Amino acid sequence: MPSSTDRSRTEPSRTDGNRTRLVERLMEEFPHVPREAVIKEDLLRGGVAFDESALSDNEGGDVKPKSYFIFSFDHGTLPELGAAALRRPPEEIVLTGGPYDLRRTVVSVRVNPASPYRVAADDDGVLGLYLDGRRISDVGLPPMPDYYRHTLENGKSVMEVAPTIQWGYLVYLTVFRVCQYFGAKEECQYCDINHNWRQHKAAGRPYTGVKPVEEVLEALAIIDKYDTAKTSTAYTLTGGAITSHIGGRDEADFYGQYAKAIEERFPGRWIGKVVAQALPKADVQRFHDYGVQIYHPNYEVWDRRLFELYCPGKERYVGRDEWHRRILDSSEVFGARNVIPNFVAGVEMAEPFGFTTVDEAIASTTEGLRFFMSHGITPRFTTWCPEPTTPLGKTNPGGAPLEYHIRLLDAYRATMEEYGLSSPPGYGPPGPGRAVFSVSSFMDSLPALPDDAR
Ligand code: SF4
Repeated sequence: MPSSTDRSRTEPSRTDGNRTRLVERLMEEFPHVPREAVIKEDLLRGGVAFDESALSDNEGGDVKPKSYFIFSFDHGTLPELGAAALRRPPEEIVLTGGPYDLRRTVVSVRVNPASPYRVAADDDGVLGLYLDGRRISDVGLPPMPDYYRHTLENGKSVMEVAPTIQWGYLVYLTVFRVCQYFGAKEECQYCDINHNWRQHKAAGRPYTGVKPVEEVLEALAIIDKYDTAKTSTAYTLTGGAITSHIGGRDEADFYGQYAKAIEERFPGRWIGKVVAQALPKADVQRFHDYGVQIYHPNYEVWDRRLFELYCPGKERYVGRDEWHRRILDSSEVFGARNVIPNFVAGVEMAEPFGFTTVDEAIASTTEGLRFFMSHGITPRFTTWCPEPTTPLGKTNPGGAPLEYHIRLLDAYRATMEEYGLSSPPGYGPPGPGRAVFSVSSFMDSLPALPDDAR
């Protein structure tokens, strides 16, 4: 384990050409973290540039385009992305081979024209991933799924209403595309859901604020019909927090109505998940009654001071201690295995309030993991993307140190082992070369299951 290292000493800037050295040093220091995960975390935290040859032709081409399924997950606003704003980048890329001999690794696309990583075609038209100008892997693009080639009766696209991510595994239903925590005093300081809504509207893109249940069912029927291989396995219902009501419904009934309708129309076709606030037990029971199988009451960041600073709306309306109590309570409804709260990995180290050493940040995050895992609850995490319109993105355009992300993978796996837990349900297969979860590499870093246990 390396000693505590501060940000300024470990992180070469994005333009000094030294990223390769950092990546290779971390691969060497953490040989039990798959090298695929080192590259993946670096791409997720800092983004990747795209040559025009690697962009999609939007919904008219052969490559599955980026759907902007909830947040922008980009390092620039649409007007700053150049060609990538007109011809969308792919939803994900898959890396294989190269000098690090990468096993198949699925990575969500976060565009950053200034990144030292670049996806480009060589003279023969073969796509590769380049780091500091050196080719480090082959790149595969997701094929356009058949179900994206069809539209709803009202002309809306399936990609707009029910996009799929994780190489087609997960249908991502952001049914409420804004958040009722609004403005600097309420919005989470790393979240651009409201900005993303505004920028898509400004660009004239279709972007439905509240998705009608009937449209969701129609889009799912198209997916069900054309996804003959049954690659789509789960759906997530999510969106912004609801502090009052939408159409007379509170948060549990608003998101729950979709689950109820989906389960009535397509019983058992997908694993139903909901990402919502940590709600009182009676509300959580309603989710369960509506047919939801997995509940994600995200706790965002463990440290008390950082939670209060970063999640002012959640602190004001619910409060950190109550939030955590509700997470534990919900395991009595769903069973501990099916309560999977997320945190945003990396914001622990965001300036000006975050920890200044990797040691402190890992210690705090591990304390949170131990709290939940000691109750049989397995949190999971997404890798923080410092979107430029968020307060934390503005002050931390480079995100958190890569070393933090790599040590977190190590700490996560060790804490799971300590409490005898295995990879959470609803994420597809674990293991390097097998995982499809694309917005962090926690699934790439867990041991693969034996073939007969999958
Ligand atoms: S609760 Fe926070 S993270 Fe969730 S959508 Fe609202 S502002 Fe974003």
